Amino acid sequence: MTTTDTIAQAKWDVMSANHILAREGVLDGYGHVSMRHPDNPAHFLLSRSRSPELVSVEDIMEFTLDGDTVGNDDRPPYLERFIHGAIYKARPDVISVVHSHQEDVIPYSISSVALQPVWHQAACIGNHVPVWDIRDKFGDTNLLVTNNAQGTDLAAALGRDKVALMRGHGFAVAGNHLQDAVSTAIYLPKNARILTTAKLLGGSVKISTPGEVELAGPVHPEQPAFQRGWEYWLTRAGLKKL
Ligand code: MN
Repeated sequence: MTTTDTIAQAKWDVMSANHILAREGVLDGYGHVSMRHPDNPAHFLLSRSRSPELVSVEDIMEFTLDGDTVGNDDRPPYLERFIHGAIYKARPDVISVVHSHQEDVIPYSISSVALQPVWHQAACIGNHVPVWDIRDKFGDTNLLVTNNAQGTDLAAALGRDKVALMRGHGFAVAGNHLQDAVSTAIYLPKNARILTTAKLLGGSVKISTPGEVELAGPVHPEQPAFQRGWEYWLTRAGLKKL
């Protein structure tokens, strides 16, 4: 593929990820998904400030890891683009980031009860899901991540983990490819619902072991089993593989 083809494919992938996450109820009018630029690891691709369900290929903008627009693109960007840039800066292994406000996850961001993996499909969330509280360092805010200092603090709390919860706000997923970030963002709220329901039953709850998470966790986009699920999500979002 030529560079132009690679960028066109990447923009299509980001557009399709927006539509899938909207269709699956992970993103509503808010939240976003980005991808590291395929030819320049110091840049990333993210839509202009638009509802994910409506994002088109033409809406995808290019940013530096500091969240500055590349070129003369003066369309309004998302206020919280610093989440993405700061994670890409801290984690060279990360290729795609999702930020969501999905509400089934929020109780675990405000409670002392940890969000832990309990379902085989959600092993991709990892053994440890840290909670970042913007208040710890920045005091009273509107809870949005609107500058690099806040993004950097969130990325530090994420550490080497796959998912960080954001207290009273949402979560950030860091994937080593776009499909990894999208599927993890889809399975994270489902795992939260399962865990909450199991706890409400009142008995003891079995958590997936680190060994199970290690075996079931990695997402392999090239494998037929994953492709089956990806085609399902694309179809539900009204898309056909490019
Ligand atoms: Mn947000």
